[in-house]
Amino acid sequence: MSAEVSLPLQARLIINGEETGASNGRQFARENPANTSETVTVAAEATLDDVRAAIDAAREAFDSNKANWVSDYKLRERVLYTTAQLLRAQTPRLAKVVSLEVGMPMRQAIPHIGAAAGVFEFYAGYCSKLYGESLFLPNGSLITLIKEPVGVVGMITPWNFPLTQTARKVAPALAVGCTLVAKPASYTPASTYELVKLLHEAGLPPGIVNYISGPGSVVGNELVENPKIDKVSFTGETTTGKQILQKASQDLKRVSLELGGKNPFIAFADVDIEAAARSLVFGMYRNAGQACGSTSRLLVQKEIHDTLLSRVVELTQALRVGNPASEETDMGPMISQSQEKTVLEYIKSGLDSGFKLVIGGHKLSGPEYDNGYFVAPTIFDEVDNSSKLAQEEIFGPVLAVTSFTDEAEAIRLANDVTYGLTAAVWSGDPARALRVARQVRAGTVWVWDAYTQPVEGIWGGYKQSGMGRELGPYGIDDFVEIKQIYTDGTGLTMKPAYRQVIRE
Ligand code: NAD
Repeated sequence: MSAEVSLPLQARLIINGEETGASNGRQFARENPANTSETVTVAAEATLDDVRAAIDAAREAFDSNKANWVSDYKLRERVLYTTAQLLRAQTPRLAKVVSLEVGMPMRQAIPHIGAAAGVFEFYAGYCSKLYGESLFLPNGSLITLIKEPVGVVGMITPWNFPLTQTARKVAPALAVGCTLVAKPASYTPASTYELVKLLHEAGLPPGIVNYISGPGSVVGNELVENPKIDKVSFTGETTTGKQILQKASQDLKRVSLELGGKNPFIAFADVDIEAAARSLVFGMYRNAGQACGSTSRLLVQKEIHDTLLSRVVELTQALRVGNPASEETDMGPMISQSQEKTVLEYIKSGLDSGFKLVIGGHKLSGPEYDNGYFVAPTIFDEVDNSSKLAQEEIFGPVLAVTSFTDEAEAIRLANDVTYGLTAAVWSGDPARALRVARQVRAGTVWVWDAYTQPVEGIWGGYKQSGMGRELGPYGIDDFVEIKQIYTDGTGLTMKPAYRQVIRE
């Protein structure tokens, strides 16, 4: 299939299987972040009534077991497998859509589609394996613990990896028999819309997955507040996650949160410098540092500070920043003007604090850059770990380097942030690497690696990086309730416990 797409892309709402515009006809446009004169997508801006219609459709589908969706795991398995096949078959076109909306280089957008397909394949296998547990009590009674779908899920996703972020919520939720309403970030409406269309093409009955787009404060908020939603699954900023958790607590909705990170890369003096430098550069600049699990702090043992840093700088200098559509491009633009501004403000705060700017530190200019939101890959050295630069999530290509003396200091620095999403540990001593991995408080710790995310593993944060786990076997748990069915096995009319209330 060709990678050609004709612009602007159209993203409509999908409610109860029907594609429709917003009920008041409103639309919003998404520009190309690498060339803002180009409109990539025109999307429907859902009204509150549209959102409520989408929620009603999902509620009705769940409560009526529409098309046997909740009970027929074979149907669910077929839909998930077929969706994976369609994703794989349409990879070039979908990668182009993602690349245009996100500004993600094609070399990263193509594996992104494969990763989303992998998530659907993984969870397709779970549809028929939702076993529970049973136990006979000493009196012969039987306790059966079964897993049931949590119900109607409101899914709110960010823009940075639009297909995988959506896939890792949608696929496990569907595998267990939930129905849902999906809302993407307004920067990436077409990417998510395309995925929801493929699900329907794969045989999904109408009303199971509904798609709406529009501002988080209106459309997203309704998914959080509407009492017909049983569970909110959110990925985004920690501040937004906290607001959502507070609101969802009004009716005790189930909530899972995948939030921000400030992820350390800990390098001890005995590392293989070349292997560590490459891993760091991969972990830091993928998607221009706009990833929750991006390497954003280098904690380096004093003895190798100069050699490791100079190799990282060499690799950074070699990066080709530019048009995401080009096969040659390693790093694209920031997602938006406001994100570019945020990143440049953090750079200014680093300069104001007197940290040593090693490379970058500015907006890129020139014919290739002037129409987009391009920031130079940036490294600050001698950064104080208590500073803004080391503590706050920047979500851009900015690295804070801090030196340490010994293992205890490395662990203290790694943990001395409010986040706990990922960390990378590099040491030539396997025992030390494992010791440090155990003591760093993060949902994922890589040893001799960075930013790899196999679907078979898990993803989720300690501390203010979130609640719950996505991917792997635990990704199912976010979408199930456990029910106990207790069956009397005594057959007695007068059971010993009754004596507490009934006299013979
Ligand atoms: P964001 O919080 O601004 O928006 C995320 C989503 O929430 C969007 O769809 C947005 O429209 C919606 N939203 C915004 N305000 C809302 C509200 N009041 N009520 C309901 N919904 C609302 O985040 P973003 O800028 O899209 O994404 C970047 C952030 O996401 C970063 O902090 C990053 O670390 C985080 N992230 C985390 C993970 C993870 O797995 N831990 C993965 C990717 C991104």
